[in-house]
Amino acid sequence: MSDLHRRTVIFGAVAGLATPFVAQSALAQGMPRSFAGRGPITRGEAATITRIPTAQPLVAMTFDDGPHPNLTPQLLDMLRARGIRATFYVIGRNAARFPQILQRMVAEGHEIGNHTWSHPSLHGHSDASVLSQVDRTNRAVYDAVGRPPVTMRPPYGNLYDRQRLMLFETRGMPTVLWSVDPLDWQRPGSAVVSQRIIGSSHSGAVILAHDIHRATVRAMPSALDGVTGRGFRFATMSELIGWPRWDRRRLRLVEATS
Ligand SMILES: [Zn+2]
Repeated sequence: MSDLHRRTVIFGAVAGLATPFVAQSALAQGMPRSFAGRGPITRGEAATITRIPTAQPLVAMTFDDGPHPNLTPQLLDMLRARGIRATFYVIGRNAARFPQILQRMVAEGHEIGNHTWSHPSLHGHSDASVLSQVDRTNRAVYDAVGRPPVTMRPPYGNLYDRQRLMLFETRGMPTVLWSVDPLDWQRPGSAVVSQRIIGSSHSGAVILAHDIHRATVRAMPSALDGVTGRGFRFATMSELIGWPRWDRRRLRLVEATS
């Protein structure tokens, strides 16, 4: 393991997540009420988000497993043409290979989340192994765009409740799952993916898709237009949660040598 990967990225803003500033700024911006202090993150036994309770017609479109060198730029074109911002749960080693795609994401207002370094099922992994997967990916994203992700999505949704809480307490990162799953990885075809996304969307939805499948990217124009046609607006994960924009968070990057 290289020195770079041995270094641990620690965020100094963990305690800050529950500060009145966060809740206040979220309300001031007219975003959904922040859960800081009493929402689903801190109330349950697991620091987990599957949907956000809000009456506002907001949804978050999330794309996992990229960036893909060809498909992700195509998807970014589609999003830009519609003025839609999404959240990309990138795999760390892909992020390290294609930093310029991450830079484009950020330039166009998208959010980048953490989907681990090498996409393992984390069930059975030690806390140190979980943190290593997360920290290496935070580091790769930080190196690419100068900001670390603020939420994490475990591959296959697999992370024990206790470790979700551990991750939240040590890194300030909630585990984000999803409430709308078109099962696009089963390759049902673009029309089916699009119909499932449109038909299942709801206020506060977290919609899961994968920008490494050609049919999924092909489904996006009709899916995005259909969701918009039902009256929903798209927000990034942080915006849906009610946090400030992820790239404006004043996270202090501390490098440890453990
Ligand atoms: Zn994945």
